[in-house]
Parts: sequence; C-alpha cells; structure tokens
Amino acid sequence: MVRNSRKSKECRSFEARFEEVLQGAADAEMQSHVKECAECRSALEDAVLARDLLRETYTPAPEARPGFAAGVMARIAVEKARRESPAAFWTPLEFLASRLSLTAAVILLVLSGYLIHEKPQLGAGPVRSQTELSAGDFPQPPGDPVSNDEVLQALAERSNGR
Ligand SMILES: [Zn+2]
Repeated sequence: MVRNSRKSKECRSFEARFEEVLQGAADAEMQSHVKECAECRSALEDAVLARDLLRETYTPAPEARPGFAAGVMARIAVEKARRESPAAFWTPLEFLASRLSLTAAVILLVLSGYLIHEKPQLGAGPVRSQTELSAGDFPQPPGDPVSNDEVLQALAERSNGR
C-alpha cells in the first residue's frame, strides 16, 4: 500500500509526540490521527498502559500510613527478640499461659492444701515431699501480657537495650 509508507513517516513524527500527550498535552492533530491509524492507536495505548504501570510502581500504596515504617520496625524487633531472647521458649505459649495460669495456680493451691492436709506436722524440719510441686520448680513465663501492644513494646525495649 502506498498509503502505508507515507503513513509510517507521518506516524514516526506522531510517536515523537507521544511523550507530550502522555503528560497531558492536548494534541488535536494526534487525536484525529489516532482515530484513523490503528498502529498509532495501539502504540499510544501501550504507552499509556506503560505510564500507568510505572505510576502504580512508584506511587506509594494508599495503605502506607505515617506509622507504617514504625510498625514494620516494631515487627522486625519482635521477630528478632523472639529468635534471640531466652524467653523465646515461652513466647508461643504466652497466650496459652495467660489463659491457663489462673487455673494452674488454683490447682497448685488445692494440691498443696491436700498434701498438707494428708501429712500434717511431719515433726521437726521442713521435710519436703517429692510429689509436692512449687512454682519455683518451673521456669516462669515473663508475666501475663495484658495486650498485644504491651507485648510488642516490651519485646522492642528488650531488643533495644541490647
Ligand atoms: Zn499512525
């Protein structure tokens, strides 16, 4: 087609103006050409798509709040503390422990009361029964977490103090 060769030269001149059109410049000549020329239309559409993708990539996501970085740092600190802290053993159990600690305390109380009642006054000297358990026999979990925020703060402080 004769029109094709003429057009490709014309098209090249339009392609050089894509940049301005992409940046919002009104180009009536371009508009009318793009309506007739499928090649330039698809090329312009591709350019618009590429521009939009780039904008999406370089524009911060809308959910990035001012406290986002601080939150990420706190999470990193928590993960770090969890891996390095000697209390790491308890960390996965903290939730369970907070639920069970009251029950466990009651059971220990009842159990020790029962043992004392069964063996009253074994004479002189504190003879300690083998079956009697005291809280000191177990490693103590680092307190019952009142809220997640307090846990985060405590862990962050622990790792910062190092
Ligand atoms: Zn064209």
